[in-house]
Amino acid sequence: KKSSSSNFIKHIVVEDLKAGKYDQIVTRFPPEPNGYLHIGHAKSIVLNFELADEYKGKTNLRFDDTNPLKEDVEFVESIKEDVKWLGFDWDGLFFASDYFDEMYDRAVLLIKKGLAYVEDMSQEEIRAYRGTLTGPGKESPSRNRSVEENLDLFEKMKNGQFKNGEKVLRAKIDMASPNINLRDPVIYRISHTIHHNTGDKWCIYPMYAFAHPLEDAIEGVTHSICTLEFEDQRPFYDWVVEQCEMKSTPRQYEFARLNLTNTVMSKRKLKQFVDEKIVDGWDDPRMPTISGLRRKGYTPEAIRQFCREIGVSRAFSTVDEQMLEHFIREDLKLKAPRTMAVLEPLKVVITNYPEGQVEWLDAEINPENEEMGSRKIPFSREIYIEQDDFMENPPNKYFRLFPGNEVRLKHAYFIKCEEVIKDENGKVVELHCTYDPETKSGSGFTGRKVKGTLHWVEATNAIESEFRLYEPLILDDAGDEGEDKNFLEKVNPNSMEILKGFVEPNMAESKGHDKFQFFRHGYFNVDPKYTTEGKLVFNRIVSLKSSFKL
Ligand code: ATP
Ligand code: MG
Ligand code: MG
Repeated sequence: KKSSSSNFIKHIVVEDLKAGKYDQIVTRFPPEPNGYLHIGHAKSIVLNFELADEYKGKTNLRFDDTNPLKEDVEFVESIKEDVKWLGFDWDGLFFASDYFDEMYDRAVLLIKKGLAYVEDMSQEEIRAYRGTLTGPGKESPSRNRSVEENLDLFEKMKNGQFKNGEKVLRAKIDMASPNINLRDPVIYRISHTIHHNTGDKWCIYPMYAFAHPLEDAIEGVTHSICTLEFEDQRPFYDWVVEQCEMKSTPRQYEFARLNLTNTVMSKRKLKQFVDEKIVDGWDDPRMPTISGLRRKGYTPEAIRQFCREIGVSRAFSTVDEQMLEHFIREDLKLKAPRTMAVLEPLKVVITNYPEGQVEWLDAEINPENEEMGSRKIPFSREIYIEQDDFMENPPNKYFRLFPGNEVRLKHAYFIKCEEVIKDENGKVVELHCTYDPETKSGSGFTGRKVKGTLHWVEATNAIESEFRLYEPLILDDAGDEGEDKNFLEKVNPNSMEILKGFVEPNMAESKGHDKFQFFRHGYFNVDPKYTTEGKLVFNRIVSLKSSFKL
């Protein structure tokens, strides 16, 4: 199902095609391989790939790898994996670094046209000369260098004859422009660094703002979609395409980035969580990364549907993380088998049930999806229930188990609490109950009614399991708006709770990424990293209920 929400970029594409501007649209997703992708990137991926799909165009995956210091092959591989997992196939797979030769040639062209010059000033001086919005900038003494001198110096930069920071190449535009980005922006810098793709071939690297329009034009991208921070760069983007005499003319369109409550969404900050071991890697289930969401138990379908429904606009907004949760519930509702798990067990002995006997009861797998059929679950004299499904001195309207009270065990019988067994500290360690054979589930028993229905697991066949319950990693309703240096102070110290309990025996063969709905507890995913032979680890994806309304 495609989105019903608005997408202004789609209207632009429709108009462009109607006007015959292009035979075919080309979009691209251009991550910098300096971290793992997050849910914000998913918004951009879904937008670019689905737009091209819908209008029979193409989408490239392009690694924007012009900054060798922060980039790594590990990130390249993870990005490919995540895009594929989200369900998308790229047409071309490119690296911006493959275009370094062409970019260099285009920079030389600018020099020859008198539109670029080599600058001797330091970064600080350049910044000071650039001025502010309230007044014009000051022209640098280097600005009037001859074409010959600039060509010579730029070649020397390329040949490694200068140290980092000693020289840069600048576009020569207008030091009085009201758009600061046009006040002779730096387009090449020196960096004696090994690049993950080009090795030591280059010691000068193009700046992002210069490289990006060239990359788009080289690939014949028609609609270059980026986030709003780049709006002020658009005039320079157009200037580069025009002055570098590129054959094709891509157009840049900006939309508001996705911001979610209770998390941060910048790779730089997420990397800090990883480096400072606040989480156990980029794929920690608390991370808003694609790999983290996958490990938590999110499906590509849920993420795609979320991305469609949030829409594409130019208005800033912070999306409630509960909206993301809404879509995984929707996706799993009919798909996930429903089973029972006891997360904090309390042993119950059914004293009138024959010792040594085990009976196998029928239980439907998903009442909302009958096609999933039924399963068999064991019942015997010893079972586990949830500790907080029993209270010795219950308040009014407590319908679960307490001394003398009768409840229904899901798929099994009514049981009644007869005796409470405690340890020397007074802690309840076991309950003695009786069951009524007449009340068997499915038998049509109508003799009397009980108000509470509990989940349970038969004790002798149960599988010991670990359950990991998550809370937000960051406590902040504003999400990740703006630069926030103190975000580490907002880290929630209780973002994970680990419980040890039991699941039904029919789940013994579960593999990483199998998903279940545990009766009354929510949706869980078998953790692919910590689950081993004989020990299942479950991540709670989401609880069952939410006040969130779409
Ligand atoms: P970060 O600040 O997390 O590093 P980035 O924008 O620097 O993000 P890139 O690798 O450059 O990361 O992003 C690749 C693409 O994904 C860009 O086109 C960018 O606009 C888009 N993108 C990144 N973050 C978001 C977001 N929160 N919402 C929507 N699109 C995003
Ligand atoms: Mg970036
Ligand atoms: Mg960034």
